[in-house]
Amino acid sequence: MAKITFLGAVGAVTGSKYLVEAGGKRLLVDCGLFQGPKALTQRNWDRLPIDPATINWIVLTHAHIDHTGYLPRIVRDGFRGPIYANAATRELCELLLPDSAHLQEEDALFAMKKGYSQHKPPLPLYTVVEAQQALQHFQEIPRKDPFTISPQFTVKPTDAGHILGSSSLQITITENGKSSVVVFSGDVGRYNQPILNDPEPIAKADYILCESTYGDRDHPKDSPYDAIAAIVNRVAKRGGAIVIPAFAVGRTQTLMYILRQLEERQQIPKLPTYVDSPMAINVTGLYVRHKEDHSLQFTREEETGNHDPLNTHEVHMTRTPQESKQINSVVTPCLILSASGMCSGGRILHHLARRLPDSRNAVILAGYQAEGTLGRQLQDGAKAARIHGEEIAVRAEITEVSQFSAHADRGELIRWLSGFTAPPKQLYLVHGEPAAAQAFRGTVQQQLHWPVTVPAYLDSFDPLA
Ligand SMILES: [Zn+2]
Repeated sequence: MAKITFLGAVGAVTGSKYLVEAGGKRLLVDCGLFQGPKALTQRNWDRLPIDPATINWIVLTHAHIDHTGYLPRIVRDGFRGPIYANAATRELCELLLPDSAHLQEEDALFAMKKGYSQHKPPLPLYTVVEAQQALQHFQEIPRKDPFTISPQFTVKPTDAGHILGSSSLQITITENGKSSVVVFSGDVGRYNQPILNDPEPIAKADYILCESTYGDRDHPKDSPYDAIAAIVNRVAKRGGAIVIPAFAVGRTQTLMYILRQLEERQQIPKLPTYVDSPMAINVTGLYVRHKEDHSLQFTREEETGNHDPLNTHEVHMTRTPQESKQINSVVTPCLILSASGMCSGGRILHHLARRLPDSRNAVILAGYQAEGTLGRQLQDGAKAARIHGEEIAVRAEITEVSQFSAHADRGELIRWLSGFTAPPKQLYLVHGEPAAAQAFRGTVQQQLHWPVTVPAYLDSFDPLA
């Protein structure tokens, strides 16, 4: 019997993992890390509900850690097959997975020094060496052409417009001469945005698993340029620092692109910008190599690196913990970008501990802040925050710039779903917190009249039924 099981990203926006079984073979779609509340992150430490050694293949929609960050662990726990991803996703994972491991090693080390870990001694979920081992399993698949994994599974990727390499996967599942087409949306991007392409429509699906991160709201329509310019000028004038929790890759480049443009138009001052990540590197080359995914036009000067549209004029990449600490002594107005994007761990915590108590400073929340994360607490107006076991007063200005979101909002998700020429037998809403998924379920029923389900953890269905 063919079966699809929800192993993550149900009732939450992290831990994306869907197990597809047919003809005695197992294909895992995405292999994400759970982030946020302990009840969720504990699942990263529990054994998977199925033995990793029995999974034949993994295929990835895109490189974000909530879709790939469990790969080093699953390989360590016995997965031996290929991990299929397109070139851009593979290259991004080469940056993101060791970065994720670094952050976990640093967090574990820090917890050991301060003595506050739940594990004794504090352990990282995986190490940099284990991340490198997982990368050995990667095999490149075409950006858009259909790719046959086995007689049971053929994958057709389309551009999801969310980050470089991001795809929706249309998977044809075959067993005993019967076939069914299941579409995994991955994370759906936005329409008419700077840099990335629009999400591509897909015509046919028997079943759809669609993300619903922002299924309960629409993003503000005003310009992200104006919003960012206003904050930067306000904070620079009062002599503060701006802390931006951001994913190492993707969001950071969109932010940098907009900041750069504002600098060039002299709408904001040229502030020192610290990109603080163990793997902080200039990823402009990735955008130059993968032009198929975006609308940036690079001049010859830009391609050779003399002029970089994806970095501010005064950018500093900090790699070592020592360099990271030195940012603490910067007292002039500056921008600090660091991971994690939801303040759930990593170096951003040190910067927040240092900058939150001063009302001259600001924190820009430019991405989704999941339930149970420090980012969500700040978004909700917490007056104090617990960081590394210490109580920190929150006096800095906390602002949200949701125009930056790399996720489709309610209207954009409906637009993407409307690209299908016929209703699916069932639409499953995944990758959304319960309120967002349930609200979007109502919207889909009202506007598209499709059968919609919000699945629970470990639910399954037969795509050939
Ligand atoms: Zn994503």
